[in-house]
Amino acid sequence: MRLAGLSALVTGGGSGIGRDSCRLFAAEGAFVSVCDRDAASAEAVAEEICAAGGRAIAVTADVSRGAEIAAAVERAEAEGGGLHVVFNNAGVFPDADGSPVDTPEDVFDQVIDINLKGVFLGCKYAIPALLRSGGGSIINMASFVAVVGAATSQIAYTASKGGVLAMTREIAVEYARQGIRANALCPGPVDTPLLRELLADPKARERRLVHIPMGRLATSEEIARAALFLASPESSYVNGTTFMVDGGITSAYVTPED
Ligand code: NAD
Repeated sequence: MRLAGLSALVTGGGSGIGRDSCRLFAAEGAFVSVCDRDAASAEAVAEEICAAGGRAIAVTADVSRGAEIAAAVERAEAEGGGLHVVFNNAGVFPDADGSPVDTPEDVFDQVIDINLKGVFLGCKYAIPALLRSGGGSIINMASFVAVVGAATSQIAYTASKGGVLAMTREIAVEYARQGIRANALCPGPVDTPLLRELLADPKARERRLVHIPMGRLATSEEIARAALFLASPESSYVNGTTFMVDGGITSAYVTPED
């Protein structure tokens, strides 16, 4: 078991990448605190894990609210016998987030609040708990869009993910000698509810698939497996990275023809 004896908190654990990460972390022996603002989905994931013989609790919190994420960390630490892994994964991708000219100010604020401030708050409240447990691993969810530009812009989302990269590097450096590693995970497009609506339009789907050397989206499980590596002691010398799991997108100039 790759996470035996460890306690992990996963935000956005009720769906997509977060849900598969909770399942995988629990299957590898972790006590998992499934955190989501959607209480029903967090409970369903925790129940499924327990029914399969794993250990998990559901914690309801909106990551953009400091008091809620502080309480979530407190519960995770108390019930998990400490805290060793934090996956700041919760994020949003609203339809109204587009070009800098078209994106309404309140939509920009909402995305930054959840995708960037939510990661900051997750780190702010989890770091003291990780230190009390003797160190651990922070995984902050970014995206490939943090390192390459797109003509189909989503300006707030891209800005939020770029901020996650910079913040993660700083945390990685500051806490390295205290036993905390911090890494940013950068998936390519993943087949989850977050993207499904956008990609329901065949033209939008094709426009994106053409840039992926592998010619397909990632599954949420493929991204969860990368998170598991970063969470586990197997990645003990991996710190401060921009961990690309993008099927080769950011290495591509011309992609293969079908
Ligand atoms: P998803 O929509 O399936 O899951 C996101 C989860 O986060 C949901 O359960 C939702 O309830 C929760 N959430 C949203 N706002 C929250 C808040 N304020 N507080 C607590 N929970 C909240 O999406 P996903 O594709 O699994 O995305 C997970 C993360 O991966 C996001 O940060 C996203 O930006 C990132 N990501 C996704 C893709 C992709 O193509 N799907 C690519 C790169 C990065």
